[in-house]
Amino acid sequence: MNGIKEQAKNLIAYAQEKLELKERDGEYKTNRLLEIMQSGLEGAELEDAVYGELSLLPSETDERFAEIMKENGSKAATEWLYNYCVYNKYVKKDVLDKNPRFDTANGLTITINKAKPEFRDPKKAKAGNSVDGGYAKCVICRENEGFGAKNKRNLRTVSITLGGKPWFWQYSPYGYFHEHGIAVNCEHTPMNIDRQTFVNLLDFVDKFPHYFIGCNAPLERIGGSVLAHDHYQGGGEILPLHRAKIKTKIKDNKYSYVTVGILDWAGTVIRIKSDKRNEVVDIADRLREAWINYSDWGLGIIAKDSNGIHNAISPTVIKTVNGYEMNVILRSNVTSKEYQDGVFHAHPEYHSIKKESIGLIEAQGLFILPGRLEEELSAVERLIESRQPLPEKYAQFGLVYDETKALYESGKYKDVHTAMREELGSICYRILENTAVFKEEEDLMRFLKTAGFEI
Ligand SMILES: [Zn+2]
Repeated sequence: MNGIKEQAKNLIAYAQEKLELKERDGEYKTNRLLEIMQSGLEGAELEDAVYGELSLLPSETDERFAEIMKENGSKAATEWLYNYCVYNKYVKKDVLDKNPRFDTANGLTITINKAKPEFRDPKKAKAGNSVDGGYAKCVICRENEGFGAKNKRNLRTVSITLGGKPWFWQYSPYGYFHEHGIAVNCEHTPMNIDRQTFVNLLDFVDKFPHYFIGCNAPLERIGGSVLAHDHYQGGGEILPLHRAKIKTKIKDNKYSYVTVGILDWAGTVIRIKSDKRNEVVDIADRLREAWINYSDWGLGIIAKDSNGIHNAISPTVIKTVNGYEMNVILRSNVTSKEYQDGVFHAHPEYHSIKKESIGLIEAQGLFILPGRLEEELSAVERLIESRQPLPEKYAQFGLVYDETKALYESGKYKDVHTAMREELGSICYRILENTAVFKEEEDLMRFLKTAGFEI
């Protein structure tokens, strides 16, 4: 008993320092902890239960967040919340910090995700991992806040309003970039992109101008892992796509003075820059509507067929001193006999590196590669270094082996590991090119004309 009393005492001291536990509640919480610690829970579940008990109630979290927002602004408020979620162990920052992460010469960022299993089944995304008829309709419903069966006793969210409707914001336990979070509709309603989406995204960056926010395409194979529940992804990092420049300016027929252009980017992206919300919403929504109805069979673009709708957009916005920068990424999930995982998906020769859906985060140039690669690729590096051929069990890495070997032998890189990182950057770039619905600018221009733009 003494051992666990000591542990409880230390935890209470920690909670008073980091989790805003009030002095008056110390003894009460000690008793609660002793009960939990003797309940038979173990490992991650025990940690979840302990920190869930020591955390502020959701209503108190909301109040603190609003109070900091009022006194010190939204940046201070999100900083407080993020740190709180690290202190209460919901955000597994120590695990995240161990993920290898690097920038490549072509401007992309790559991280190898050792924390989360590879997710390869697009059908699961549609269902949103829901347990049929179960409590909490999906993994991101707000009912999960404090839910023991899903180890979310320490999850805390804050209320926000987007487009006049109740939404909430929470951080991802295994985020991929600085302060990676999701804005979630309080109602369990499917992912959908329409005019209101742009309004909501602008509302978000008006409130949190230090964050970007974007929305996955609401179709399987090109969207996120949860399509059953409307949500956006955002956070405190400027991603490679946001740093890209406009390469060709185009003129909007209605708002001829607004800067609109084709982005210098491997995927197909149109950027709209304006400090007027209605202009951004109007132009972006016109693009959306034109794209979801557009077909060019010669290019493999098919808006709709017996398999359903194939065209969708994925918008992502930042706010700068000059106003909003809304990027509209054109996507298609169409499949063919040759490309059964998607014509505009990573092609099969790259599947040893990335087979999962190329969602919003990757489309913005931050690639999350599966954890298994760390070991596999270092084995390939050792083979190259010792001039050994590739054994049968690594046959899927034939392309990576050949190209990394050539890079290494060119003498441009200080070691084989550096050459391998550049090779990964190059493959990810080619994957983004695979996702581009228009490979040639003249084809894209033909579409843009139908949407009311001129050069
Ligand atoms: Zn839900």
